[in-house]
Amino acid sequence: MKRFKKQLLAVLLSVAMLATSRVPMVFAEDNINSDKNQIQMEETLEQSEDAKSLAENQASLEEIKIDQEFKDDKKLDQDLSTGDSEYSEDLLNNDYLKLSAILKTIYGSDRYETAVKVSQDAWKDGADNVVLVNGKNTIMGIVATPLASMHKAPILLVQDNKIQDNVLNEIKRLKAKNIYIIGDREQVSKAVSDKIKKATGASMKRVFGKYPGEISANIAQQIAKERKIDTAYVVSITNGVADALSIASKAGDTQNPVIVVDKNYMNTGAKDFLKRNVSTVYYIGGEASISKALVKQVDSLVKNAGEGNRIYGSERHATNVNVINRFYKEAVLPGVVITKSENAGLIDTVSAGPYAAKYKAPIIITGKNHIAAVTMKLLEARKTDNIYQIGGGISSSVTSTIKSKLSSINKVETDKPKPDVKPQPKPQPQPRPDVDETPSSSSIRGKKIVIDAGHGGSDAGASGMYGVREKDWTLKTSLACADYLRKAGANVIMTRTSDTYPTLQDRAELSNRKGADFFCSIHYNKGGNPINPDNEEYSGTGVEVYKGEGDLAARAARNVLNSILQGFDLKNRGVKDGTHLYVIRNTDAPAILVEGGFLSNRKEISLLNNDQGLKKMGIQIAKGIIATFSK
Ligand SMILES: [Zn+2]
Repeated sequence: MKRFKKQLLAVLLSVAMLATSRVPMVFAEDNINSDKNQIQMEETLEQSEDAKSLAENQASLEEIKIDQEFKDDKKLDQDLSTGDSEYSEDLLNNDYLKLSAILKTIYGSDRYETAVKVSQDAWKDGADNVVLVNGKNTIMGIVATPLASMHKAPILLVQDNKIQDNVLNEIKRLKAKNIYIIGDREQVSKAVSDKIKKATGASMKRVFGKYPGEISANIAQQIAKERKIDTAYVVSITNGVADALSIASKAGDTQNPVIVVDKNYMNTGAKDFLKRNVSTVYYIGGEASISKALVKQVDSLVKNAGEGNRIYGSERHATNVNVINRFYKEAVLPGVVITKSENAGLIDTVSAGPYAAKYKAPIIITGKNHIAAVTMKLLEARKTDNIYQIGGGISSSVTSTIKSKLSSINKVETDKPKPDVKPQPKPQPQPRPDVDETPSSSSIRGKKIVIDAGHGGSDAGASGMYGVREKDWTLKTSLACADYLRKAGANVIMTRTSDTYPTLQDRAELSNRKGADFFCSIHYNKGGNPINPDNEEYSGTGVEVYKGEGDLAARAARNVLNSILQGFDLKNRGVKDGTHLYVIRNTDAPAILVEGGFLSNRKEISLLNNDQGLKKMGIQIAKGIIATFSK
């Protein structure tokens, strides 16, 4: 499956202020002992619709889908202050020049629409499961995040007795099979449940509970039914919603539950759960929101749950930074979600957790017009190229500061002015590592070869067995391919050298601007008949190369295909016409696109899913290209 979907990296830099006068409603946790802490899954007993209404549903589904694609096409890649920054790679510099960080803003006119937009953005191909929470309370979204992440589900919002049309349409677009409703019927009414069931045919399940503490315990048990867990995060509804949001992404990523407490009180069901299921508990928040006495109680039930596991700061930004420093150690982050720290902004982020978890991005909270000093320090210490703003209301001066602080290119550029010409391949004192591996070709020398690692950044490409991601394979392969070509004397230009996402247009334009002699895009495949879909295993197998117009592209496609087949015992799927593919169609240079094997195939995974295999694939592709220029 070629995953050349229209990129959605449209950068909406215009920050329209959201008129948020809402105050997040804080639920009062009941202090009454709630031992009736039952978990139930609600199966609505209604019969599924008759064939006619099913057909109607199908029809409207199609409309929505078409409409969606149309919208995507219209989205512009209003760039992104990359301006003229080049992302060709300096040959002798290991600090790859990168694109300036990309800021993507996702928000709607209200929290319900924001949640829909988040879902549309991160679940472009649909989702089997959806988690539905009452939109009144941010903490419900946080608590539901690990459950949602476990089921690869977005969180959508409803009111207690109403579902908005755009939310219902989004459930249809996702083609969700299961809807998990969080909370009892006062949170989300039976009428809402029935309406969704009727409109979508999805199976309705419900995690019951009246108060956040009780609901959090019930969700935790639900998670523990399906997977082994050993850690839980305790957050407080006493002044704690911003603190709680700080942990949502990690909780989602690790699928460890979030338990909600009052300052002095933890639901008995939750205590019981912790005692039986976990060995480590972290507390997010200071003593003003989670008392020492309560920590002591939990510590007596759980092995590793003392005061040392409390993460907090003097105020919400400091807590946020400390949480990130504790749970996200990498200097280069896959992404970052930013959101407004004022209470009126937090409510917009009730759906942010699964999104942040999906991109393994910590959530950084920031003031609307001011970045706290602690946050500034964090931004200076970390890099990322993918910044997602969820919810509106952050001033453009704040977002642009965040962007420039996190952006890796600025960190490179502050030292030295950017070279205004493309890097010259410096005459290398030919190292000759081993004679066999040193390519020799005079005809490729100086040729401008673009190597395009498919996908990247927020676009993972196809996801294969064992969680393998296409974008990681293509990058490793491309780096090896480029390295080999350079040794042969080629002037290699890479569209990306790290986990970033240049748009398809960026890639083609780079090639054209450089006056490339040849363009090669590297991808991997997925698909065929399902063997074990739970495991992402499909029957498709083999290697294929798509060619653009012209003799050189045709020769290159053949040579690259043959070279790969010489290196690997793979099925030959042949050379195919690729003139419909964006990067082939829009590059001036002769172009090919390699599908180097199936990451949904057990055998091909075993051949390729290691650095040696992917490196070898890169080298075989390079050899095919070199052969093409050798005539
Ligand atoms: Zn691909």
